[in-house]
Amino acid sequence: MRAIAVHEDVVVAIGALWKTTCTAVRSGDEAFLIDSPILPEELEALPALLDQAGFPVSGLLVTHADWDHMLSRYAFPEASIGCGETTAARLAAEPGVAQRELREFDEEFMLERPGPLSLAGVQALPVPGYCALGDRELELHPADGHTSDGTAVWIPWAGVLVCGDYLSPGAIPELSPSSSLDAYRATLKRLEPLVDQARVVVPGHGEPLDNVRAAAILREDLAYVEALVADPASAQLPLARRDGGNRKLHEYNLSLLG
Ligand SMILES: [Zn+2]
Repeated sequence: MRAIAVHEDVVVAIGALWKTTCTAVRSGDEAFLIDSPILPEELEALPALLDQAGFPVSGLLVTHADWDHMLSRYAFPEASIGCGETTAARLAAEPGVAQRELREFDEEFMLERPGPLSLAGVQALPVPGYCALGDRELELHPADGHTSDGTAVWIPWAGVLVCGDYLSPGAIPELSPSSSLDAYRATLKRLEPLVDQARVVVPGHGEPLDNVRAAAILREDLAYVEALVADPASAQLPLARRDGGNRKLHEYNLSLLG
């Protein structure tokens, strides 16, 4: 796990696996953590790392309900956990799914955790809306399409956009069984003005991006998604993302659309 300070109030940790990001943001003497790394030792190291950096984490946010983003309770078992309304609805509609998928993953890679994943008491936050942190506010924006749920977090005073599973420098847009291409496209359009204002964009997977790079990825992703809408069979992968992993991802996307 690598940690990068992208602003005096924002630290991004990038997990070793799938470059999953988690972002700590502070205001005054309060800090929130958005999303989580995956590996048990990374989660174990997180409290000391953030404490030393002066981020006293009291609240957890998740961008969407995919299990790989929701493990922060292992690091901060006492912290409250919040998510957008769409994510709360998805969690309620598929109880135990995140826990089961995590268990299957851990069994496959023989990983051990201190206990089962607890998502008890998840608080639904209105989106679009605001979330108070210290004497400031985070902005919450709808970001569904990759899955049926999703929230992007805009940190206005830092100019940082934490967008969940969009704008990955390493992976093309990934669909899921609950995806909607229209929603995906609408989310990219909604993110566009935020990306333009941003100093830093933190994708769900991959290194933080400056706004020029993030805007270029957004244009490529929009073109790819629009091609999938028009004629999936002739959709081309973005030039810089045509490796084996992305070709497989593209095949998977096509299988969901077919
Ligand atoms: Zn993810």
